Amino acid sequence: MADVVSRIIDFRAHADRPAVITGADTLSYAQIETRIDAICAYMSAQGVMAGDRVAFALPKSVAGLLLFLAILRSGAVAVPINPAQPEEAIANILACAGPKLVLTSSEALGGVTVDDMWLPGILDAYAGAQMVDLVPLGADDPALILFTSGTTGAPKGVVHSVGSLEATARALASVWEITEADILLHALPTYHAHGLIVSLLPLLSRGAEILPHTTFEPRRILRDLPRATVMMGVPFHYQQLLSVPGLGAAGAGIRLFTCGSAPLPPALAEAFRAEVGKDLAERYGMTETMISTANSASHLRRGTVGRALEGVELRIRDPQTDTICAANQVGELELRGPTVFSGYIGTDVVAPLTDDGFFKTGDLGEIDEDGYLTLRGRSKDLIIYCGINVYPGDVEAELEALPGVASACVFGVPDQMTGEAVYAALVVDQGCATTPAEFRLQLARKVASHRVPKRIFLVDAFPRNPMGKIDRRKLCADLNKT
Ligand code: AMP
Repeated sequence: MADVVSRIIDFRAHADRPAVITGADTLSYAQIETRIDAICAYMSAQGVMAGDRVAFALPKSVAGLLLFLAILRSGAVAVPINPAQPEEAIANILACAGPKLVLTSSEALGGVTVDDMWLPGILDAYAGAQMVDLVPLGADDPALILFTSGTTGAPKGVVHSVGSLEATARALASVWEITEADILLHALPTYHAHGLIVSLLPLLSRGAEILPHTTFEPRRILRDLPRATVMMGVPFHYQQLLSVPGLGAAGAGIRLFTCGSAPLPPALAEAFRAEVGKDLAERYGMTETMISTANSASHLRRGTVGRALEGVELRIRDPQTDTICAANQVGELELRGPTVFSGYIGTDVVAPLTDDGFFKTGDLGEIDEDGYLTLRGRSKDLIIYCGINVYPGDVEAELEALPGVASACVFGVPDQMTGEAVYAALVVDQGCATTPAEFRLQLARKVASHRVPKRIFLVDAFPRNPMGKIDRRKLCADLNKT
């Protein structure tokens, strides 16, 4: 059985097709294969064998992407690490992962230092070197470990198998109808499943082209957008793109804009539609499950995150009765399929699985008669006010529809009278002079009283994680100090 990379990417079939744009040059599929094989030979010379872990904490670069593919091809387990974390967090992850080889951009972190001359040096030394015999891997063998956190001193590694990566590439290429003619503007970080797996592998599996941007700079992205046919991002990215003029014209030739990793505020979806004349195709996943549901350009239901991907089974469980819900009933989402992770490392936490092997996602949602999933937030963020369920996302959407509100974050705070109270933080448009009391009044005219926040804070900006997701825990801690 061929190695996992050859199972996903058919280098021979696309040999002369452009694969990755690097500055003024474009590398063909044959050229990236030569580079990947040289890196494999280099790793073999370093003693890396199938099953060994290879960690890399590198700023995004084409060399880094090729390194990742080479790790997979050599049968080793890739451990991507966010290089922008404090050194201590990276050290914690390395201690947990126990890699055979570490590649970093900073000598302080130890391991091999990778700079602009690293790949040319490897090509000089190893191009054409005898390929090591690749060990055939099975679908259950580990291929990737993604760390969800390194900052608390207790990093948690999420292990994905060869089969999970293959299934992700296959299902997404199919649902998004990727062809050789596609060009992906790739502006996501490459230490997260979204940038490394979800965006890269489906495109490469169909012989398409990658146009990487190493940072997310809206003006530069708009300049390159007319060269691309597919763009993938998180809601915050699209919000940033809308804040510079010209998105409508620049995005006219994009056939598919995908959006996920965090809730898409309805007001943002609407503003995008008004500017670009197209819908954002929402998809849903988590580090533990890769992508489980997706909309596409041809099958899209607004407000939903799409239908189950090939091989994925979804169901909703009523947490009160512990029974499976009927269509359109809200409960906790459980799912089963080939892309669910194999387990955690570095923690005592075990994967929350049901007896029949469904993963309990901790997300709340409902599935309509046609199988489209609508998310209603994380179950731990659900606010129970006097026994009534208040979904933060619903209140956020109501708040964001008020004039002057740029974005809202709603959360629960323990309350002696009501069990929990609804609190909100708002970022308002420049020049907006509406007070929190006035916002409360405006909302009270539109929604039931239990959905009107007891307190509203105005903040300059929300703290966000590197994926642009609001860091609720930090926001609550910051507000607690005020
Ligand atoms: P992560 O593991 O960091 O990718 O976070 C996964 C979590 O992000 C999921 O459990 C969801 O709560 C949330 N999420 C992912 N995609 C979406 C989406 N399209 N809409 C709303 N929330 C999402």
